[in-house]
Amino acid sequence: MIDKIGGELRRLLSLRSLQARIFIIVLAAGLLPSVIVRCGILDNYEEQSVQNRISTVRNQLLIVGNHLISNNYFNTKPEGYSSSVSKDVINAELEMISNLYEGRVMIIDSSLKVVRDTYDISEGKTIISEEVIKCFQGTDMSNYDSDHGYIEMTTPIIDTSVNNGEIVGVMLTSISNDAIVAMLDILNRKSVILQNLVLVVILAMAVILSVVLTRPFNRVTKAISEVKAGYTDESISVPDYAETAHIVEAFNQLLTRMRLLDNSRQEFVENVSHELKTPMAAIKVLADSLLAQREAPAELYREFLEDIVSEIDRENQIITDLLALVKMDKKAQELNIVSLNINDLAELILKRLRPLARKKDVEVVFESMRPVVAEVDEVKLTLIMTNLVENAIKYNREHGWVKVELDADHQFFTFRVSDSGLGIPEDALAHIYERFYRVDKSHSREIGGTGLGLAITRGAVLMHRGAITVTSVEGEGSSFTVKIPLSSKAGSGAGLVS
Ligand code: ADP
Repeated sequence: MIDKIGGELRRLLSLRSLQARIFIIVLAAGLLPSVIVRCGILDNYEEQSVQNRISTVRNQLLIVGNHLISNNYFNTKPEGYSSSVSKDVINAELEMISNLYEGRVMIIDSSLKVVRDTYDISEGKTIISEEVIKCFQGTDMSNYDSDHGYIEMTTPIIDTSVNNGEIVGVMLTSISNDAIVAMLDILNRKSVILQNLVLVVILAMAVILSVVLTRPFNRVTKAISEVKAGYTDESISVPDYAETAHIVEAFNQLLTRMRLLDNSRQEFVENVSHELKTPMAAIKVLADSLLAQREAPAELYREFLEDIVSEIDRENQIITDLLALVKMDKKAQELNIVSLNINDLAELILKRLRPLARKKDVEVVFESMRPVVAEVDEVKLTLIMTNLVENAIKYNREHGWVKVELDADHQFFTFRVSDSGLGIPEDALAHIYERFYRVDKSHSREIGGTGLGLAITRGAVLMHRGAITVTSVEGEGSSFTVKIPLSSKAGSGAGLVS
């Protein structure tokens, strides 16, 4: 159990798990936008608030500035123009602004002397500051110090009665930013609470989605495990996603193939047992009937023993063919490739089979278009040629003919065996390469066929990456064509389709 949990955790951490990936993607997709939006909104709010505050304060200072000029605050106009009453009014206005915005306002005249300071600290002092001098030159400024929470700004006092207006003084103001900071704090706290709520919802969604979305894959694994464990061999179905449907479809195809293989193996074993039992049963019947007759004549013994010998020969033949077939099935078995003169081999095989042909008065002719040398396994090619020519003789009529043709192009050589024999019915053509298949069982048995010859032949052809094809007309004859690459390396892996 602990091992299982550990394995799951390792899988999650190594990010090879689809579940972990879905979890992280949903979490990131849900959280990132909310964090970005939160930071963006707070930043924007701070900037907007500072700008609003600056423009409100500046408007009010401009109005005060106009009052300063109209009331001759700097005593630049003739005597009697200003009164101490109006000066007090203006000072009260300045006081009000400085209280309202929790700040300090200093009025500086053209000689850089502070004529009024709402903090009453710097009055009469001379202030030499870059910002003030720049303001006298026409460039006012505003500065936001977010670390210390205040805004500093210069506002020109313009005497419009002079041509084009003359800057006669500057208001240097610093106001507190505490209200904005407090509001930002409240907003920040609320957004953090909201974000935590969103985090909980997104976490829950990430967990649910990662579990729900990967569930069909778990179903696939479970279904495959059940087949593996042997609870069922039914085709499985998980149609939830196109992907799971594809995986399951591929698995079902594999299952069908395995079932076919299993069936064919079972069928093969049944056939082998049956084929091996038949001669045995015949031997037993012959022996029993001899034993049953107390004084059987010597001729009868001889006749029955000859039959027994022929049944033993048959049994031998089946075992020899089976061994050849089993060898052919071993895919890993290497071919013993040699460079071989195919014309010579064909001549040799025909020489060996001519006595059999003579028995049936079948004429065998060999036509070679050109000398052919190919890289092949001599034993297996001998098997191929012998089986085809032997069949052409065996399944021929009296006084018939067999024609063997050999030809080649730059890539393949072709070995064709045609005969004037019985032919193969159309519906049997698809089965002749099956193990133990015989068109006419009794006839084939009579002439010593086991039904394994063509299965062996096809196996040997495929091992050479060649192809075997057949055309046949029942009652007229058949023609088998084998096409094999001249070089064992040519087209490696591709092969021909037979
Ligand atoms: P067998 O050992 O019985 O000859 P094969 O596998 O060689 O088995 O052939 C399978 C069946 O195909 C044969 O039983 C026969 O009916 C048919 N067959 C094969 N070659 C020929 C041929 N040249 N002419 C007619 N029938 C053939």
